[in-house]
Amino acid sequence: MPQENYAEQRRLLVEKLSREGYIKSPSIKRAFLKVPRHMFVPPRLRDAAYLDTPLPTLKGQTISAPHMCALMCELLSPRQGDKILEIGTGSGYHAALCAEVVAPSLLGDGLVVTLELEPELARFAWKNLKEAGYGAKVHVIIADGSFTLPLRKAFTRGLVTAACPRDPQNLLEVLLDGSIAVAPVGSYYLQELIVFRKTNGITIKERKGPVLFVPLRGVGTGDGHSHS
Ligand code: SAH
Repeated sequence: MPQENYAEQRRLLVEKLSREGYIKSPSIKRAFLKVPRHMFVPPRLRDAAYLDTPLPTLKGQTISAPHMCALMCELLSPRQGDKILEIGTGSGYHAALCAEVVAPSLLGDGLVVTLELEPELARFAWKNLKEAGYGAKVHVIIADGSFTLPLRKAFTRGLVTAACPRDPQNLLEVLLDGSIAVAPVGSYYLQELIVFRKTNGITIKERKGPVLFVPLRGVGTGDGHSHS
């Protein structure tokens, strides 16, 4: 399908998500209009990229439905200049949306660091991000984000895009005071989307309703995942 058709499909999707109340703020709307989702799905699925549905990526993993990305982005309320840490890079699409908001031009300090457990997915995401023009503002790291993170406490927003068996304390630890994190927390079959606000050294939690994500794996979840 020609590029201009993708742009038109993207515009229609953004209209639908705005009408349904998922997209609210201008900066997030702008990001959704800009980021080419078709460049973040496997080539054979490109024509389905602007349907509001999750799609398979690699290794049994998925790219979340656009309305879920919109909901999480709005709850995260990123601002220009924020440093976002994402756990679960997947296709790189959500990281690109975040980068559009925190670093709309290549100037400024806004940055997204994203961790992916599966090397194959990390390579897929990195290729997608580079080709779509986000190589300078998104750093993809092959790492297990399920336990203590070897990162400095320097982030202002945190995002987990896989189901956490419990609150992501490891992520909250590397967030500065005043930060916000969004994560699905719960069992394999059902999780709740939670917003964490770190203020004056305490973390306040807000529940935002049931969601369904692929499970977080790795050492910290006790699933015995080996780094193959
Ligand atoms: N945000 C992604 C969708 C993520 S799907 C997107 O926009 O496409 C969840 C991803 O989390 C999968 O790619 C999975 O491999 C990864 N994942 C699972 N456990 C992880 C862990 N412990 N550390 C880092 N990534 C993990």
